Amino acid sequence: MSQYRKETLCIQGGYQPKNGEPRVLPIYQSTTYKYDSAEHLGKLFDLQAPGHMYTRISNPTVEAVENKIAALEGGVGAVLLSSGQAANLFSLLNIAQSGDNFISTSSIYGGTVNLFAVTMQKMGIEVRFATPGATDAEIEELFDDRTRAVFGETVANPALDVLDIERFAALAHKHDVPLIIDNTFPTPVLCRPFEFGADIVTHSTTKYMDGHAQVVGGVVVDSGRFDWTKGDKFKELTEPDESYHGVVYTRDFGEAAYITKLRVQLLRDIGAAPSPMSAYLLNLGLETLHLRMERHCENAQIVAEFLEKHEKVSWVNFPGLTSNSQYAMAQKYLPEGSCGVISFGVAGGREAAVRFMDSLKLAAIVVHVADARTCVLHPASTTHRQLTEQQLADAGIGSDLIRMSVGIENVQDILEDITQALDKA
Ligand SMILES: *Cc1c(COP(=O)(O)O)cnc(C)c1O
Repeated sequence: MSQYRKETLCIQGGYQPKNGEPRVLPIYQSTTYKYDSAEHLGKLFDLQAPGHMYTRISNPTVEAVENKIAALEGGVGAVLLSSGQAANLFSLLNIAQSGDNFISTSSIYGGTVNLFAVTMQKMGIEVRFATPGATDAEIEELFDDRTRAVFGETVANPALDVLDIERFAALAHKHDVPLIIDNTFPTPVLCRPFEFGADIVTHSTTKYMDGHAQVVGGVVVDSGRFDWTKGDKFKELTEPDESYHGVVYTRDFGEAAYITKLRVQLLRDIGAAPSPMSAYLLNLGLETLHLRMERHCENAQIVAEFLEKHEKVSWVNFPGLTSNSQYAMAQKYLPEGSCGVISFGVAGGREAAVRFMDSLKLAAIVVHVADARTCVLHPASTTHRQLTEQQLADAGIGSDLIRMSVGIENVQDILEDITQALDKA
């Protein structure tokens, strides 16, 4: 199956029914699984036989969707989680413990900033932020012998900075740690970070993957390519896990060591598991991901070019504009388009921005991004309001910034709505 192209994987990846089985992925709405012998179940508990034990850890519907996403990203395995927040937390908690640190670009989603700088800090895991423009030398100064990973977003939400994945992968690998990429905005349809040296990919599947604003979810994907045995940084993977009678993940699971540990240890203990119904709905979204991304990019390009020429718009940020500072980087990593999200400022500042938003009829004001319906948001007063002025500046968010998530409606209708709302701004 993995030899197929992304369009085919979106539709048929992860689930291949055998003779007489349902054509469409069934919802296995069951918490438990039946076994003929206690011995077999014992083997499952010891991780010596494959199979499902309990839906907190794995489930056939969930597994099919995990396999689809792993195939789309080109990884060896994936774990679906109940949210994107859980995915980013798990991706790091799987290889870092109290006393360790990791490096993250500062241009990332506001919820992730809070997770890293507040909650993980309380767990004793320190984040060290590097601005996207930091030089190699400045970033290298942040590493020490307790650094366990480097983290960044392919296309930052909402600053829309495009990460130089190859540069960050080289820096991480020079210090024998993996590069973790949150690939939420481009999705594997537009960018596959493993092809540029990333080791782990995360997503908030809540966004384009589901694409219909129906299910909160997340996923962690393992490339299987990082060598955890090099050096002595990842003892949790290379030494016996006492909670599994001495399983050694790298020895027993090879290239799937990281993703296996994440499932059988973190998901078992912390339990941020998705429901089978959520996985089923996510799968429906994934079936049209390739079609939707194409239209999101096409519409966003037209809207961005329109806004750029409009006299009431003071600036437009969209990596697909030739005038954009990210254009060259986007051409390298996202040649088919970056996403459907645009940010811009309305001339007249914060008040004009609010009048514009309140006058929109087709586009709705919602705390969401990246679904089929066009929507707008003012991050400084909503999703990012917990951030300090400095954190806002580091994340590239001005107080006049409007984030517009361009949907897949008829683009003429979107342009007409924007025009009438700008007239009132
Ligand atoms: C929304 C988002 C998250 C958080 O995901 P949830 O599914 O809302 O928990 C993480 N990273 C990025 C880039 C996001 O856009």
